Amino acid sequence: MKVGRFDVAIVGAGPAGSASAISLARKGYSVVLLDKAFFPREKLCGDFLNPIAWPLFEQLGVADDLLSFEHEEVGAFRISTCAGDQARVDFPVQAGQRRFGLGLRRFYLDNLLVQAAEKEGVAVQQGCRVGAVARDAEGWSITLEAHSAEKQLHSVFLIGADGRNSSVTHRLGLAKTSDGPTDYLAFQLRLTRRWSFPGEVQIHCFPGGYAGLVGLGGGAANLCFTVEKRRAKENLSLAALLEKFLCKNDFLRECLRESEIVGDIRSAYPVYFSPRRCYGDSFLLAGDAARVTEPVTGEGVYFALKSGILAGEAIDRAFRRRNGTVEQFAGYECLCRQAFSSRQTINRIIRGLIYRPSLLAPLVRLSSKTLFPLRPLVDRLCRN
Ligand SMILES: Cc1cc2nc3c(=O)[nH]c(=O)nc-3n(C[C@H](O)[C@H](O)[C@H](O)COP(=O)(O)OP(=O)(O)OC[C@H]3O[C@@H](n4cnc5c(N)ncnc54)[C@H](O)[C@@H]3O)c2cc1C
Repeated sequence: MKVGRFDVAIVGAGPAGSASAISLARKGYSVVLLDKAFFPREKLCGDFLNPIAWPLFEQLGVADDLLSFEHEEVGAFRISTCAGDQARVDFPVQAGQRRFGLGLRRFYLDNLLVQAAEKEGVAVQQGCRVGAVARDAEGWSITLEAHSAEKQLHSVFLIGADGRNSSVTHRLGLAKTSDGPTDYLAFQLRLTRRWSFPGEVQIHCFPGGYAGLVGLGGGAANLCFTVEKRRAKENLSLAALLEKFLCKNDFLRECLRESEIVGDIRSAYPVYFSPRRCYGDSFLLAGDAARVTEPVTGEGVYFALKSGILAGEAIDRAFRRRNGTVEQFAGYECLCRQAFSSRQTINRIIRGLIYRPSLLAPLVRLSSKTLFPLRPLVDRLCRN
């Protein structure tokens, strides 16, 4: 059964897909946004929004609405090591103002973006998993699996924004099995928070991994952590993860003692893989489908939104030039590289440090006395 023809079909209604959809619909294109989930939906994430994302939220028209949900304003960063060292810095002041980040559930953020896309006239189809994607004479033929029935729709261009385990990427042959380091697992817990470090996003390191902690307002907090897969092999129960990993950090052990875990533990794999080619003949990849970044800096949503907007602009140029070839779309990858490469270099350095306690501990000790090198690093990561 044919259910429609669109200028652009976008697979995945996370931040990358919604941002592409909004920017393309505003330019007058017919857009369908497809997601296997029904929104609002939960999403494993650190739930920290870096202040650099504000201009993008404003551009997408959701900045004011974000603050209507339960949230915590975050104006400082704290790090602790398993050796017991701690350092804390405030976020930078920009244009005379301290820009704050947010602790906010993805449950709210992603749903708000989907609703914003719908208001711009995007056809949003929820609860439908995209199966096969195939080229035809007019563009793309896309098979949707919904309610145990199959449907087809057609589009001129395709954007794969379906996240870290992107099936579009696999179907287009852009994901390799040996796709870089895949040896970390991620977990997420919700806590009711009784200790008092309001307004901070915190990173706590332990042997074989680290945890990120942020308040979400209303007495709730999000604890997200990664552990080396080989060390976690036989220790996957919550009790074992707490004992073998999280409680090896004194600060974290105290936080956990003072709080209550609510709800289920969520997990994701892989945490890391190398950037991929993110364009081809009549298609682009955006967000995590194209590149997965170090979650410690809380920039994943920023990268997703920005690459989604850049993908929308690239497709607009392709329509105007009547040219959606590989050569035309190569420019999109260059623009992404220009926008992200210095941040991604810093992310790689941070990853190198965070999993090497013997290198990290002296730097944190130095920062606790002189704020160096933590302050310039946080300034760079939280400034546009
Ligand atoms: C442990 C951890 C902590 C993190 N913490 C932070 C943080 O604090 N701050 C931050 O900014 N970033 C963080 N990130 C990164 C951030 O979560 C991602 O970068 C961001 O979600 C990417 O958005 P996206 O739109 O590309 O993909 P996603 O948000 O993953 O959205 C993809 C969408 O595609 C849909 N989908 C998938 N397959 C199909 C299919 N076949 N058919 C239809 N729909 C499909 C999914 O249902 C989903 O809704 C963290 C990541 C990890 C692993």
